[in-house]
Amino acid sequence: MTSTIEVGTTHCPSCAAPLNFTLDAVEGGGLRYDVTCAPCQQVYFHVSTEAPQLPAAAAA
Ligand SMILES: [Zn+2]
Repeated sequence: MTSTIEVGTTHCPSCAAPLNFTLDAVEGGGLRYDVTCAPCQQVYFHVSTEAPQLPAAAAA
């Protein structure tokens, strides 16, 4: 069960085509980031747990 926080557009890391992303809050804590690229026929998703400080996220 997820609830959507944000929907927007970004660019595919492989083909640089514009695509849509969805950021969802995952029940129990954490975030799920979904990206679907039609040209690549691929779906990227990343799930992270909720943490006060994430070094990788802070650097991004
Ligand atoms: Zn792509």
